[in-house]
Amino acid sequence: MTASTLPNGPVQWERVRLVVFDLDGTLYDQRRLRTMMLLRLLIDAGRSRSLTSIRILRTFRHCREQLGEALATDFASRQYELTADRCTVSQETVKAVVEEWIDHRPLDVLPACRCRGVERVFAGLTAQGKTIAVLSDYPASEKLRALGLSADIVVSAADPEVGVLKPHPAGLQYVLSRAQVPAQAAIMVGDRVDRDWAVAQSHGMRALIRSSKPIAGVDTFRSYEDEIFRSFTEQLPSVGAPVSSSRSIRTSS
Ligand SMILES: [Mg+2]
Repeated sequence: MTASTLPNGPVQWERVRLVVFDLDGTLYDQRRLRTMMLLRLLIDAGRSRSLTSIRILRTFRHCREQLGEALATDFASRQYELTADRCTVSQETVKAVVEEWIDHRPLDVLPACRCRGVERVFAGLTAQGKTIAVLSDYPASEKLRALGLSADIVVSAADPEVGVLKPHPAGLQYVLSRAQVPAQAAIMVGDRVDRDWAVAQSHGMRALIRSSKPIAGVDTFRSYEDEIFRSFTEQLPSVGAPVSSSRSIRTSS
């Protein structure tokens, strides 16, 4: 989709001071990562002759979807309690499986799944002096590092200052106040209408959703190489030349 055909009009990048990225499915191809991880899980299940980890992970994701939709303010503990109850295992078992299969094991697979051109968008935003933030429902700092990307502000749902999943508005409010930028001078970039678009809407903030298909009323883009990002990527050295930014990650802790 070109900038001129966005349903809500072109993005005035010169007015944007803060770009808030979602991470999963936005900075990398989530379908590809999940396929690769499923393969590993199946090999692991074959070795251990147990489908328990797969069942726990599926239930955990389902519980988090429900807690997000309910705007739960106690999701950090409830996600483990609910999953443990439904799978009749201990909360410690759930935590161990989640840490292993959601937080750590995907890290070495992530670089192969990074979205094409996203590093140039980050570099272009940096070159223009814009603040980059990441707001994720899952721990984000290690994944961001694995993707070879860095941001000025990295905030995750489980951070003590947040404690809610998108589309609860508190996480984005925290990012806006950390950046000291009003919602009118910020834009959200995500992959889910019911989470990323919705949380931006709750602040009257613009958003762009990464999607292979147009969505009625929603501003979408297919790729980070789309025309919509050209105004700041075309100023960079040509593709193939090294692109880097010297920013360091500031987490909320
Ligand atoms: Mg996402």
